[in-house]
Amino acid sequence: ARAQIGVTGLAVMGRNLARNFARHGYTVAVHNRSFAKTQSLMDSAGHEGDFVPSESMADFVASLERPRKVVIMVKAGAATDAVIDELLPLLEEGDIVVDAGNAHFPDTIRREEALAARGLHFVGTGVSGGEEGALNGPSIMPGGTRESYESLGPILEAISAKVDGTPCCTYVGPNGAGHFVKMVHNGIEYADMQLIAEAYDLLKQGLGASAAEIGEIFSEWNTGDLESFLIEITADVLQHVDAATGSAFVDVVLDQAEQKGTGRWTVQNGLDLGVPITGIAEATFARALSGSVPQREAGRAVLPADAGTWEIDDRDAFVEDVRLALYASKVVAYSQGFDQIAAASAEYGWDIDRGAMARIWRGGCIIRARFLNRITEAYERDASLPLLLADEYFTGAVANGLAAWRRVVARAALNGVPTPAFSSSLAYYDGVRAERLPAALIQAQRDFFGAHTYRRTDRDGIFHTEWSDDRTEQEA
Ligand code: NDP
Repeated sequence: ARAQIGVTGLAVMGRNLARNFARHGYTVAVHNRSFAKTQSLMDSAGHEGDFVPSESMADFVASLERPRKVVIMVKAGAATDAVIDELLPLLEEGDIVVDAGNAHFPDTIRREEALAARGLHFVGTGVSGGEEGALNGPSIMPGGTRESYESLGPILEAISAKVDGTPCCTYVGPNGAGHFVKMVHNGIEYADMQLIAEAYDLLKQGLGASAAEIGEIFSEWNTGDLESFLIEITADVLQHVDAATGSAFVDVVLDQAEQKGTGRWTVQNGLDLGVPITGIAEATFARALSGSVPQREAGRAVLPADAGTWEIDDRDAFVEDVRLALYASKVVAYSQGFDQIAAASAEYGWDIDRGAMARIWRGGCIIRARFLNRITEAYERDASLPLLLADEYFTGAVANGLAAWRRVVARAALNGVPTPAFSSSLAYYDGVRAERLPAALIQAQRDFFGAHTYRRTDRDGIFHTEWSDDRTEQEA
């Protein structure tokens, strides 16, 4: 037994993770259900480092130093359970099983409980950055016991992305915490992508600009506050020309966005916890709307726009308005996502450090951005900040763009351009800052038809009005 870490599941992700471990000097045991993938890894990358290939799971486990560290990188769901079942009889107390696939966090909680009962550490780990990140440095979000992190953490930190010398990997929290945080990361990614798409649409429709021209605007934006991987690739995609037609590539792509499910999980959990993650929800539903083909056909055929026409005298001012609206909406979407992490942390007993999450997302992952430093700083100022938007930096940043944000959302509505994420983020902003909400009326209605009771602004207690009788107020 000489391998320090093992990887089972050698499709694109597992193969690249194994190579990343090897390139960092670790001896890596490698295994895949079908040997062909193991063979292919050895043939093409075997020279990159010290690999110990095995055909059987038993040989694979036997090739690992104790306590064994096995990374599972297979298709999420039933395949993960199948691999765990095969591993269990071969492992011994104190061994560490890492699930680096995109597991749904309730599955991770269940698996952790089952393995802990057998004296094993189960580490549900979020890994972001796709194929490229897995090879060159992903953002890694490991959950599980602190004890397991002592021996596993340094290895994961070694292969993770680095920003200013700091690893994009840290201990997240017990059982499902790592996979939960990865899920919210993906939810935020949905929101960020939708906001960027809406900004593109506004520039396209408002200015009548070409994809390449808008690509230049995004390139310019990437030199400022908005600097991020997603803005950078947006500029690149918009400037790409389709070889077959000579048209802008984005103009020949069918306008239906698909999803694999992490956005949906995030929204479902937001509903479970009662956290208004409107940016992520609107982004998820916007993808659903894009794929609602019969509905879109029916709507396109008969629904009038009855909209105005863009009359933009000052193009630069409009571009700047859209930039400011994008930044403000983005702050809201991230603020909501971090609220969800706080709520889950309290609900499931995870004690997640939100500032540390922003820190490990600065590199390696899809939402990597300069902006995340501001989030880390905000939680350094106040670790229990109830609302990211209320941090002094973000309050200032949003106030600076507020008038622009309102103009953009209003003009989009007047001109018939759908901006669900921009609009709902502004509505959230106005809701969360409101002195008084019309929720009072909703609670009164609930008491009227369902005797659901209400509280009063002027004194303590729980009350009910006898609506169908003499309308006297009773104290419950
Ligand atoms: P896939 O999700 O395509 O899974 C293929 C791998 O799973 C193969 O190694 C396959 O083995 C194995 N497998 C499938 N069923 C079983 C089973 N019943 N028993 C044993 N092994 C099985 O691979 P990816 O590399 O794309 O992703 C791996 C994991 O990483 C997934 O959970 C994914 O969600 C996650 N992930 C992926 C990212 C990406 O960008 N692709 C990014 C971040 C996370 P065989 O070769 O024998 O068929």
